[in-house]
Amino acid sequence: MNTATKAAAGLERYRMYIGGEWTDAADGETFETTDPYTMQAWATLPRGRKVDAERAVQAADKAFNSGPWSAMKASARGLLLHRLADLIVRDADKLARIEVRDNGKLITEMRAQTGYLPEYFRYFGGLADKIEGAVLPIDKSDTFNYTTHEPLGVCVAITAWNSPLLLAVNKLAPGLAAGNTFVLKPSEYTSASALELAKLFEEAGFPPGVLNVVTGYGAEVGAPLVEHKKVAKIGFTGSEFGGQKIYEAAARDFKHVTLELGGKSANIVFADANLDDAVKGAISGIFAATGQTCVAGSRLLVQDSIYDEFVDRLVAFARSARMGDPSDRATQVGPVTTPPQYEKILEYIGIARNEGAQCRLGGNASTRPECGAGLFVEPTIFSEVRNDMRIAQEEVFGPVLSCIRFKDDDEAAAIANDSLYGLAAGVWTSDLRRALEFPKRLKVGMVWVNMYRAVSYMSPFGGYKRSGIGRENGMDAIREYLQTKSVWISTAKETPDPFVIR
Ligand code: NAD
Repeated sequence: MNTATKAAAGLERYRMYIGGEWTDAADGETFETTDPYTMQAWATLPRGRKVDAERAVQAADKAFNSGPWSAMKASARGLLLHRLADLIVRDADKLARIEVRDNGKLITEMRAQTGYLPEYFRYFGGLADKIEGAVLPIDKSDTFNYTTHEPLGVCVAITAWNSPLLLAVNKLAPGLAAGNTFVLKPSEYTSASALELAKLFEEAGFPPGVLNVVTGYGAEVGAPLVEHKKVAKIGFTGSEFGGQKIYEAAARDFKHVTLELGGKSANIVFADANLDDAVKGAISGIFAATGQTCVAGSRLLVQDSIYDEFVDRLVAFARSARMGDPSDRATQVGPVTTPPQYEKILEYIGIARNEGAQCRLGGNASTRPECGAGLFVEPTIFSEVRNDMRIAQEEVFGPVLSCIRFKDDDEAAAIANDSLYGLAAGVWTSDLRRALEFPKRLKVGMVWVNMYRAVSYMSPFGGYKRSGIGRENGMDAIREYLQTKSVWISTAKETPDPFVIR
């Protein structure tokens, strides 16, 4: 095991994991990864290219078609996933700290996340030997018909920078349980945790080639993976633009895809809601993870009769949010992860101002001493936003909230659905009938009622409309990594007329 060794410059030096070997890029090139709080480079990673993608796909293909993984019983696959879960429990703190350093996520959020990730491998590991086909009561005489569900083959997992471990695990756990092999390409901004996870795969005893991790840029190493003829499926989490490129490339070979893309989710507060809870729900919807989350409740729809009071309460609550070092357990809002994202957030704040939205809180980069060298944006709240403004229609992916008024249920549903996206929504109400009925009106993949931003390995995750295709988590997720075979066996004494369909 030799993924990270100290390089001369004092930086950690990571290697990729291909075919069970720790390796540099074929041409030896590297790139640096930066700590978003200190803005200092802390590690180097191999800058993979087409030749490295080729090696990784060949390794995954070999592992899928021959060798121990291809012969392994489903129960044994499940046990390996359980062993991996135990190793993640052991290393949860280390994994959390690496993610904080590479991504700027809060240690409090990461510690909760790495404590929970093992459950994904346990749940799907438990499903590995429960992938049952059926004997069908077929309507043909002298015929026996049954179905089996088989893995797809080599899968490529490509992930965004905002939640690197979770996004990888969302794909690996169901896909491996189903019997596939993987090449994982994490975001070029946050690749370290994927390589740390690969170490645990090696230690758990996964055969070589079952998981391969290549690092580098999307166009250089991601695109050749997606285009490779031996790849059967791409599980992608990222931007709408990236998703379009993946979908187009996958279409050429009719590859399977799961696309988890962007969102502009409505968090809807009715006048009858418990307003204390709703304020916290609105805050967690937009300022948790510095707003860098696909399910951000970035459009806050508030009923007219409570709008002014609610926005005042929200501003007062958000004003006290503690920005600072993400490794400090007291910090509530960490840095923006990447410089382009920082620029984009500030640009959208300018756009909102020009459109006539009223900035009620924040609206600036933060240079407070506790923000160190990091790129921080103050928690920002705009009121008097109309849903046709760009700030209400386009994904910002930062701590910027748009507050929009509505009159009644009909208008709330109309505004919520007036979006190209359809990832998630929140509903805050004390009315049981509305809690049950209103979610039916929302054209989104996930609805939270009197809660926000909850995820579980058991519950399907994914979007409608431009927010994506397919589902991660739950039983739906394992089906995304399987294909169905129908087997027909004739028990007839003689073959009937060959010119007539049976
Ligand atoms: P991105 O599309 O720029 O990059 C995502 C990944 O795709 C990266 O690993 C990148 O290297 C790779 N990539 C880029 N071009 C490629 C190409 N031509 N071929 C193959 N790979 C390529 O997205 P990002 O900026 O990293 O992530 C932010 C976006 O992700 C936001 O829009 C956010 O909403 C979305 N997201 C969605 C979910 C979800 O589950 N729906 C979760 C997290 C983030």
